[in-house]
Amino acid sequence: MVGDIFPYRLDNDYYNNVKQFCDEFIEFARQFNFKDDEESLEALCIGVYWYLYGTTALDLNSNIHQTLANLAEYRRAFPEDKPFIDELRGKLLTKFLFKPFKENHEKLTKENLELLINFLEATGDYMDHLSHYRNFTHSLDDCLTLTEWFSKNSSKFLEQYTCNLENYLENNTSNHLMEEDVIFYHGHELEYHLNMLGAEIMNRIFRKDFDKRKRKAIILPGCMNANNKKCKAKEDRLGDVCTFCNPKCNVYKIAKRYPDNEVYIVSHESTAFKGAKKEDMDELGIIGITCVLNLISGGWKSSNLSIPPQCVLLEHVACKSHWLDEDIYGEINEDQLDLKV
Ligand code: SF4
Repeated sequence: MVGDIFPYRLDNDYYNNVKQFCDEFIEFARQFNFKDDEESLEALCIGVYWYLYGTTALDLNSNIHQTLANLAEYRRAFPEDKPFIDELRGKLLTKFLFKPFKENHEKLTKENLELLINFLEATGDYMDHLSHYRNFTHSLDDCLTLTEWFSKNSSKFLEQYTCNLENYLENNTSNHLMEEDVIFYHGHELEYHLNMLGAEIMNRIFRKDFDKRKRKAIILPGCMNANNKKCKAKEDRLGDVCTFCNPKCNVYKIAKRYPDNEVYIVSHESTAFKGAKKEDMDELGIIGITCVLNLISGGWKSSNLSIPPQCVLLEHVACKSHWLDEDIYGEINEDQLDLKV
């Protein structure tokens, strides 16, 4: 797939491969006596982020961390100021946090974990992860052992889906510099594999609770109707709701196919569930559809609100706001959506 325009692309074997990888990971993690599979996922995330970003985290000035964290908070509270805040954050992120990847083999101590959390907070991309890492009490050495195993084994199952990533990033080296998604856009292959495995682990962890919920909502990204500039979806508490204006639109097709489910379009992960109420936390389960690098964040965003998630991946990226020159229709594996619903 070299020459492909996407940083990742799935195929029909993907879901079998990721399941097999997940079985092996859970089997390997068993020897470390994590209290459950979610704690083993937290450990792996900490280890992988330490390996990828530890060098920068160790160097991060505390004033820059605080400034970026405050700006990210401000952006969430006042979305109307997004253009101005994003411009400022893009400059600071590029200058202080965006560094060429350098393997980090420093010991992961409690103090270093705090520095890593500061780094992740400063990027603004991992907000729904932070409580998981702040409350992590298992041995930090195990995080690194899991990470070593993961980096040796993930390519065996998942490399074929990210084999164009290096080429994609090389062709777009200066893209998104000075923009607020600079760290997200230039993510390392291991982060793609981590999100793929993380989504499969979360699907298993939350399945039982999801099945018990009486309301099931399908949450679609904006790119599912990206070619339709005249979308007539109506704003609602949990997202935009399709009014069936165009039978060719993917959202139209999904909403018609699952008439018993609520279907919402949520154009940006940061605004998802902003309007969630107590009744949603008690009754709702969601099937989130998203591109790879948002999977773990989306899953924890939902489960942190006591809304059990399931997810289906976009087969490839589709939007021009992050990835492409032009918006194209987002696609999913419909059999997988059937299985979840
Ligand atoms: S069919 Fe629905 S989602 Fe698609 S463009 Fe029309 S209103 Fe928007």
